[in-house]
Formats: sequence, C-alpha cells, structure tokens
Amino acid sequence: MHDAAVRKAIELETQRQTHNIELIASENYVSQDVLEAVGSILTNKYAEGYPGRRYYGGCVDVDIIENLARDRLCELFHAEHANVQPHSGSQANMAVYMTILQPGDKVLGMDLSSGGHLTHGHQLNFSGRLYEFHSYGVDKETEQINYEELRRIALEVKPKLIVAGASAYPREIDFKKFREIADEAGAYLMVDMAHIAGLVAAGLHMSPVPYAHFVTSTTHKTLRGPRGGIILCKQEFAKDLDRNVFPGIQGGPLMHVIAGKAVCFGEALKPEFTDYARQIIANCQALCEALQQEGLRIVTGGTDNHLILADVKSSYGITGKKAEALLDEINITCNKNTIPFDQEKPFVTSGIRLGTAAMTTRGFQEEEFRQVARWITTVLKNPEDEALKAKLRQEVMEMTARYPLIRES
Ligand code: PLP
Repeated sequence: MHDAAVRKAIELETQRQTHNIELIASENYVSQDVLEAVGSILTNKYAEGYPGRRYYGGCVDVDIIENLARDRLCELFHAEHANVQPHSGSQANMAVYMTILQPGDKVLGMDLSSGGHLTHGHQLNFSGRLYEFHSYGVDKETEQINYEELRRIALEVKPKLIVAGASAYPREIDFKKFREIADEAGAYLMVDMAHIAGLVAAGLHMSPVPYAHFVTSTTHKTLRGPRGGIILCKQEFAKDLDRNVFPGIQGGPLMHVIAGKAVCFGEALKPEFTDYARQIIANCQALCEALQQEGLRIVTGGTDNHLILADVKSSYGITGKKAEALLDEINITCNKNTIPFDQEKPFVTSGIRLGTAAMTTRGFQEEEFRQVARWITTVLKNPEDEALKAKLRQEVMEMTARYPLIRES
C-alpha cells in the first residue's frame, strides 16, 4: 500500500480490532479467504444483469462466481430462489418493498425502540418516507413480542406487508405465527433475518424460509461474511424480485463482494459452522448469567440467540451512552441501545447491546465470556476509578493478545 495516510489508518484500525474485545452484535471477523475475495481484482469488473444475461462483455468468469454464490445460498437455507446482488441489508429490504408495494401502501413492522431496524419504517428512512408504516412493539411485562397483540394490530391496520425480524431482539421469533397472522390479515410476510442468519443456517433458530414470501439478510453478522445483502424468495416471485434489484434499485453488482459471499456460504455449509453457531449461543448464555449475577438487569430476563440487551440505567444508574464510553476505556467495544419503553433519547439510551458472534470467532468460550462479564460489571460499578480502569484495560489486552484476528478458513 503506497498511500501512507490510508495505510496508517488501516494499521490503527488493525491494532484496535486486535486489542479490543468486540461485542457489537452486528459485527464479526471474516476469514482470510473472504478477505482475499473481497480484496481481489474482481472489483474491476462491471457485470450489470445476471449470469448468462449481462449488459457487458467479459462476464463468463464472474458468472461462475455469482452462480456459485446463488447455488450455495439456496442450499444453505433450502430456498427456491436467491439474489446475491444487494449491496447492503437496507438495499435488500428496499428491493422487496419495490417488488410488492406501491408508494403509500401500508406496512407493519417492529418499532425501532423495541428492536426493529431503520428500514422497518423509521420516519427519516426511505421506508418511512415512501410507505405508510405502522408498528408493533413488545409486551410491557415480558418485553417480548405478544403475538395476540400483533394479530390485533394486523387485523386493524390491514397492511399489505408485515415485516418480521429485528436488530436488537434477544429472543427467538416465531415465524410460523407471523405467517398465520399475515394470512389472516391478507398480507405478505417478509422476514429480515440479518442478525440471526448464521443461527438459522446452523439450524439453531427457526428458519423463516418455509413461512415467509421473502427473506432478506445481511451477510456480515452471525453469517460471518463480507458486508452485503441477500434476498431469498419463492420461485413465483423470482423474476419480479430480480428486476427490482437490477435495474430497479442498483446498477452493477459488486463482484468482489459476491465472491466473498460465495466463500462465506461455502464456509457456512461446513459442519464446523454449526459448532461455531452453537458456541455463539452457549457463550451468550454464559455472558448473560454472569452479568445477572452481578446485578445487571437483562431485558426479557435472558437470551435465546447471540445478543443481550442490558438495562444499565436501572441497574447502575448510568446511561447507555456513558456505559459505552466507559467500556471503550477498557478496550471493550459495544453500542448503546434503547430498551423497550426507554425514557432516554435514542442518542443517550438506558441500555447497551452485547453480542457474542465476533469473539466466538476468535475462540472465546464460556470461561472467557464470564471474565468479560466481570470486567464489564466492575467498570460500570466503578466509573470514576482511573487506576482500576487502567488495570482492567491491561487485563483485556493480555487476553485479546492470545486470540488472533485472522483465521485461515
Ligand atoms: N436489517 C437488520 C435487522 C439490521 O440489523 C441491519 C443492520 O444493522 C440491516 C437490515 C441493514 O443492513 P445494512 O447496514 O447492510 O444496510
């Protein structure tokens, strides 16, 4: 790399990723093979269209790659049709909306403060601006989706589409129930499985594929691939969907990223991936129990997946924003997050979101995560103790030094 300024920034970020404990629930570390694919000369190639039907010459080799990615993806999730071109999860969602909705149509999605994503109807997002979004939340008592209440809202709103899936929901989602409700309300069902895709691939979370008309996802969270989006659907929607990705909302696909996706799907098809996904969940349980033992209130009282929402405000009297900053001081990275019925503003919040997918990739097991819980609760209980923070930071760096960033496959 000859660009010294960019090289320096990459080196700094490499150091940060190496020395920090990464608990952002939407992040992961890709393999060397995925990195190589994404950093390859495939970035030079234009390939508008689809394999065998391109608007540019010289596409025979990239056709091999896109076909591999599509076939592996269908095999992984037992899907009838796959589109691997969306540049991101947001664009995957946009393409589905474009396929079945007209501007102004009614959609029902999960409220952002209960765990939904921006593209599920936030007023500043294209979704909330183009369509008439209504929302469902979680139950005040259980902090989980109340399917009876969801049904009541769906029958009242009569949306054309119901969106299931979330960015910060720690419990299993019942996609079968969602489909029953969608059928009753006369709506299509789209499941955005971005966060849990790796768990679904491993058979550790109910698959949405048999129930949803469309399934969207990112590829970079629990699925452990490059940044990007994907869409699965039934054969009957395949042509329409493909047309709405290209030329509907995108031009040329990012063939280097599609190669990275193909590698990722190949990795996820291996039996070792199931062991990995199992360990993510075991680690999350261990982290959750250890945090609870130290008096930290966990939203919903536990977790079924790769993430935990912790209510730092009611437990320790500090905001999510403050907790995120304190943890950063001891090299633990996470994000502040609203919790259901949060009284704080979205930029302040009462909670933090913690995920185990990334550090499980680096080899952390239950014992390491119990230690992470001790570090987290110690710093949150002693926010002003600078000497203690220096000591904890040193301990974190000693642990991360033992778990390398890059893995072979
Ligand atoms: N859907 C869900 C549930 C997400 O959590 C995210 C990202 O965090 C997205 C969609 C959007 O993905 P991207 O950031 O790639 O646009």
